[in-house]
Amino acid sequence: MARRKIIAGNWKMNMTPSEAVKLVEELKPLVNNPDVDVVYCVPAIDIVPVVEAVKGTNVQVGAENFYIEDKGAYTGEISAPMLIDAGVKYVIIGHSERRDYFKEDDAFLNKKVKKAIASGLTPILCCGESLEQRELGVTMDWIRLQIKSDLADVAADDVKNLVIAYEPIWAIGTGKTATSDQAEEVCAGIRALIAEMYDEATAEAVRIQYGGSMNAGNAKELLAKPNIDGGLIGGASLKAEFGQVVNA
Ligand code: PEP
Repeated sequence: MARRKIIAGNWKMNMTPSEAVKLVEELKPLVNNPDVDVVYCVPAIDIVPVVEAVKGTNVQVGAENFYIEDKGAYTGEISAPMLIDAGVKYVIIGHSERRDYFKEDDAFLNKKVKKAIASGLTPILCCGESLEQRELGVTMDWIRLQIKSDLADVAADDVKNLVIAYEPIWAIGTGKTATSDQAEEVCAGIRALIAEMYDEATAEAVRIQYGGSMNAGNAKELLAKPNIDGGLIGGASLKAEFGQVVNA
């Protein structure tokens, strides 16, 4: 069965609540495509107004982060049940910015993946190599380590519903996109790894996105590749251009 494409915006730390609602309204006619899953991953404070603003559209809302406990004395954190209750469907886990700035390691990310799944959230699990790792020729070794650690003890049926985003760190926010062949090579490698860790059916079902300076100019070529099932989009998700990526 063909995998359904999924285009997700990662708004990062952009958009006040009122700006968020304006952007949703602007994008409404531009992202209206029944053949694609469209997701806006938004800052925590924008979740409630964005869920309200996308009602009746094809857009689903994702969170950019959450904490692994359900409730309690974790000042400043947001839990999975809170996200679910607010209408959130997806959550980004393991973005390179959280791995780097907030020191989230694979052991913690594995807990997040398991907690998200147990709570009914679909993880968008990010992985990707640095420029130095690519130049050393260890891209796939690094990604295998990330995926194996992040998915430790996660069942095949749960992996089938997962979204994995391959995001080379050197391509995020830099304007440097991986070539479609480079992106396809790694996405195919991730699918082969899932087949090795689980089975062919799981590997065929899991959706793998590319992320890293994807935009209206390069989306079509990237999305035409057989193992690229969508995109995780940063900069270009904050403007009308996102509609062109969805329709690419
Ligand atoms: C991202 O942050 O996930 C991302 C891919 O950003 P950009 O599209 O801006 O490179």
